[in-house]
Amino acid sequence: MNADVWRKCLEVQVGASRRETERLLVVLGEIEDRALAVKDGYPSLYSYLTGTLGFSEVEAVIHLKAARAGRHYPALRRLLRRGTLSLSTLAAIGPHLCRDNWKTLTKMTAGMPIADVRRILASLDPKAEPRQAVRYAGPECGPARDAGPSTPPLPRRVEIAFGADEEFLDQLERARALLRSKYPSGKFEDLFAEAIEALVQKAEKRSLGRPRAPRWNRIGVERPQGARYVPQKVRAEVWKRDGGRCVYEGRDGLRCTETTRLEFDHLVPWALGGTSHDSRNIRLMCRVHNQARIPGELLPNRRAQESLGPIADPGGP
Ligand SMILES: [Zn+2]
Repeated sequence: MNADVWRKCLEVQVGASRRETERLLVVLGEIEDRALAVKDGYPSLYSYLTGTLGFSEVEAVIHLKAARAGRHYPALRRLLRRGTLSLSTLAAIGPHLCRDNWKTLTKMTAGMPIADVRRILASLDPKAEPRQAVRYAGPECGPARDAGPSTPPLPRRVEIAFGADEEFLDQLERARALLRSKYPSGKFEDLFAEAIEALVQKAEKRSLGRPRAPRWNRIGVERPQGARYVPQKVRAEVWKRDGGRCVYEGRDGLRCTETTRLEFDHLVPWALGGTSHDSRNIRLMCRVHNQARIPGELLPNRRAQESLGPIADPGGP
């Protein structure tokens, strides 16, 4: 084929690709609006895209933001199809759009390099939160220079960025000064490593059922009969049994993969007489699935609930 034919091919393929992207955004908008991924057992549509459909984290975020913007302003999807607006720009301006500014902002940013779009968005909202990001450092990762084939690769280094207020910075500088003798270099990495380790230990203790004593214990009064509070022993038992992971099962028995933001949920609701003192009536659920009460849908693990039969609260210890 000659050069002109290749050029024509490229134009045709780009047009087709834009039409496909527009359709993809429509579908993503519908799936999210109907909470289908959550019902199917994923903690979010983002998890479905990255965990099952092979999207990278960045691709998933861009498509989801663009799909939301397109759902609210369908005209933007048409601009995407025509090539007037890029997917990245649509995703970037999406969260900033409102009825009053969407036409102006779209016109202003169409065809503009994404760095300029971000500058415009930052000028619209000077208090905008700096982007949170994790990036793998380049040249120093990988095997050491001159290393033999049996030498294990060096641990990878990452660069982490996030925004914070001045109070946070003051606290950070204070910690650096107080710990100067322990960490003479004053590296943020050392301070954060110690702080995060303490935070993780604290959070693990809570998850495993050693939370702050309930109010009736602290003020020395007797725990009320049938209390909703799940005792430490039951929490530890449930955590171990459920493997520290949400037990929600979606379509085809697909189990949710969420291992953070977990809650101890009553299978038979406490308000309906379900006990907090029998691990068979408690399960681990992520916040999304615990709070998702979708009319007409199968409740999480209904099968398990039915197989257990009634579990009434004996009144508590
Ligand atoms: Zn879940």
